[in-house]
Amino acid sequence: MVTLYTNQPAFFADLADELRLFRAMEEIQPAEAETAQVSVVLEEQGGLWVVCARVRLDGKEAAATYTHPAVTGNALVEKRCRKRAVKIAAFRAMQAATGMELPWGSLTGIRPTRLLRELIAQEGEAEAMRMMREAFDVSSEKLALAAEIVRVQAPILESQTREDVDIYIGIPYCASRCLYCSFASAVRTKDTDMGAYLAALGRDIALGARIVQETGRKVRSMYLGGGTPTVLTAEELKRLLADALSAYGGFGRELTVEAGRPDTITAEKLGVLRAAGVGRISINPQSMNESTLELIGRSHTPEAIRTAFYMARDAGFSSINMDVIAGLPGETEADMRRTLDAVAALAPDNLTVHTLALKRSSRLVERLKEYPLPDAQTAEAMVARGAETARALGMRPYYMYRQKYMRGNLENVGYALPGQECIYNIDMMEDTTSIMAHGAGAMTKCIYDAERRVERVPNPKDIATYSAKIDKLAEEKRRLYAIV
Ligand code: SF4
Repeated sequence: MVTLYTNQPAFFADLADELRLFRAMEEIQPAEAETAQVSVVLEEQGGLWVVCARVRLDGKEAAATYTHPAVTGNALVEKRCRKRAVKIAAFRAMQAATGMELPWGSLTGIRPTRLLRELIAQEGEAEAMRMMREAFDVSSEKLALAAEIVRVQAPILESQTREDVDIYIGIPYCASRCLYCSFASAVRTKDTDMGAYLAALGRDIALGARIVQETGRKVRSMYLGGGTPTVLTAEELKRLLADALSAYGGFGRELTVEAGRPDTITAEKLGVLRAAGVGRISINPQSMNESTLELIGRSHTPEAIRTAFYMARDAGFSSINMDVIAGLPGETEADMRRTLDAVAALAPDNLTVHTLALKRSSRLVERLKEYPLPDAQTAEAMVARGAETARALGMRPYYMYRQKYMRGNLENVGYALPGQECIYNIDMMEDTTSIMAHGAGAMTKCIYDAERRVERVPNPKDIATYSAKIDKLAEEKRRLYAIV
């Protein structure tokens, strides 16, 4: 446990996230100024904010001061600048006390690419790059990555209009539960009442489509995710896609299905997806090492991944994504290289390199003692190998996100061959397009352009609660979309 005092209590949770960059999973408790191990105090002195952060941890002491011209006038801007100032001071004091260098500096709670894009729009490119390096302490290598992604995304983001909306449909069921999974996803068994779930989902889609049409929106893309949508039978998939496409009158520019687990993919299902117009699918190995697949609870072999991939090519899919994870339990850099070599041999069109994130709700966190994880340096080397493989395949990074508790404070990066970038992934990660979302645990978003504000309606994760609330959720979504 680490104790924290601040005279800016509104930012306590943000400061706690900052401390957890250095002390992952640690509980952060409030304390009085005199006894706290970390103290962050902001004072106003002659038109300046002066933030003093002091750290006393594990027998080490350090302090850092950060000054920023006081911001007044716009309450939203003032709050954002205050928050940044206290976080930067806390980060620098923690860095001095621990000696740890973090690749993304003090950035938490904001997507680096989104921040960089906003800074470029406000300050120009040179000043934005300077601020990322000097104010937020982002490493040159990570800054170059973020800058490249912003460039690759630009034409795709510019192609959207105010009326655009992306459609998300979620199937929160899987073939088995992965060790590291923190999603609210259930295992489909013979007792699962999939009919009841699909009926609720169908009503949710029908009501959502009506809202989209009545508010003059235009569908830009459709994404069927999970869970694992291909746990559905071919017949269930066919009906679901037909109903969704008929309700929305099409899928816009792109229709993606996250097939995910190879043990759920059959030639018949691939045929159904192609016939419905699906252009992009994911077949996710995570690792191509048999012992790791067994350890992480994925009930398939590396061979099953190859078979599913070739079946998808035979079915005519020209855009196939593969996900891999750096930092899986027991894996070494050599294991990661083997995975990447095996993936490269298949020549997918997208490669997404994830870094393992330790989530409190996963079985992995409960059983950490049994499963040794690669250290931060190894995770970093694995991520670098992933980037090299993607480049060697001719891909460019096109979207990125970070999660809490990632090994080495790293990131997840999606790479794609030019022209094969997934529009939905970009829109969703950058919070630039409204999303009408269907299914248990799915999140509807509405973007209010002028204020760069995002409002959300979360669907309950519990399937029974979700099913019982469909009409009420539709009312909330209608309110959200009607006031734009
Ligand atoms: S396939 Fe994905 S959603 Fe399903 S259990 Fe594994 S990590 Fe969780």
